[in-house]
Amino acid sequence: MQFSRTELLKGLAASLMMAALLIGCQATPASCPETESIETTVAGKVFATLTAEVPTSTPVPAPTPTSAPVPYNIYFGDLHVHTSRIHTTAAFHEEFGRGALRLAHLQAREVTQHDFIAVSNHARLLEDWMWQVTLEVADEFTEEGVFVSIPAFEWTASHGCGEHCSPARPDYPDWGHRNIYFRNTESATPLLRCTDPSTDTPQELFQALPGADLAITIPHHTTAARHPFDWSTVNADYDQLVEIVQRRGDYEADIVENGWGMGHVMGIVGGSDNHIAAAGQPQGITAILAPELTRDALFDALLSRHSYATTHGDIILHFFADEEIQGTVLSSRESLQLSGEIESKSGAISLVELVDNGEASVTWEPGQASSLRFERTEQIGEESHYYYVKVTLENGHQAWSSPIWVNLPGVAP
Ligand SMILES: [Zn+2]
Ligand SMILES: [Zn+2]
Repeated sequence: MQFSRTELLKGLAASLMMAALLIGCQATPASCPETESIETTVAGKVFATLTAEVPTSTPVPAPTPTSAPVPYNIYFGDLHVHTSRIHTTAAFHEEFGRGALRLAHLQAREVTQHDFIAVSNHARLLEDWMWQVTLEVADEFTEEGVFVSIPAFEWTASHGCGEHCSPARPDYPDWGHRNIYFRNTESATPLLRCTDPSTDTPQELFQALPGADLAITIPHHTTAARHPFDWSTVNADYDQLVEIVQRRGDYEADIVENGWGMGHVMGIVGGSDNHIAAAGQPQGITAILAPELTRDALFDALLSRHSYATTHGDIILHFFADEEIQGTVLSSRESLQLSGEIESKSGAISLVELVDNGEASVTWEPGQASSLRFERTEQIGEESHYYYVKVTLENGHQAWSSPIWVNLPGVAP
């Protein structure tokens, strides 16, 4: 179905208003977040009915140019959205499944005004035809330069969620959850499930993936009590990133200790992990630094770890070392020039921390300012270091840059 942007906006706004009216809330949808159901219509056609909250609209800002030109734009989106808590055949019949997937995409593109989305439903609970529908909707909504949908599913291996996640086997290990992303729908594999004996270990999962330029895997909620992540399973080719924040909280301490602290070179992303098709709601957003808004450009940026995470898409965070951007592994050197430019569009910045090998080495408290620039020369000798920047706003929202590594063993000068 083809509709103009204006028609879509009108349809979405009208249907959200309708939902608000139906539950007796006369104000704008944003100010009455609790609803019982949303019926979304586009150009007069109902394409989804979903039980969910009406998400708060939090449009992301247009980035302000940095003092020096950068070789990228900043694109915001949610890489971890589920359309339902259950994906049984009954719940995911053709109309509802396709409608819920479309709703997630419209939500991301028109309400939160994101640039991209990845709907990552649990492979364990999908049937093959549902994956086909997922890929079709991802292609339907991908319009280069406007909005990109990255094909994805989630591979779950943890006992805590029982049948919902992993095989009913008492000896099945808690390897953890990973989302699997594909460069495009052509490179997407059939569903890989932890319940299938041929793909029920991380090693088998990686073997079943296409080349490491076509697929990327991202572990999440690494210390969640019921589904922790086993860091010994990290695959240096595919696990280029780790999710640092989502609705359950942030995993910075664990990533510092068991990820970066153990030498894993992984950039970071944020995701909501909500199960109501509402991108960015709440608490986890990824910013991708890419030259253009295409599937290839976003995927290449993710492969190079050129991304940062926020709890809210209103923080602009540039971080450089010797003019290379966040996520880069630098060749060895004795000193380096670190610089950063931070801008908040929603509240004053209360704290900016420059973190060196897991410890905040410099902090700034800019008072009521909404922007901050810093520049430092670090003498580092021969030791290996990773640096990242952490931003905290007065309103509690946060952002983390991906690290920049230097003097890693095995990286040539
Ligand atoms: Zn999960
Ligand atoms: Zn999930």
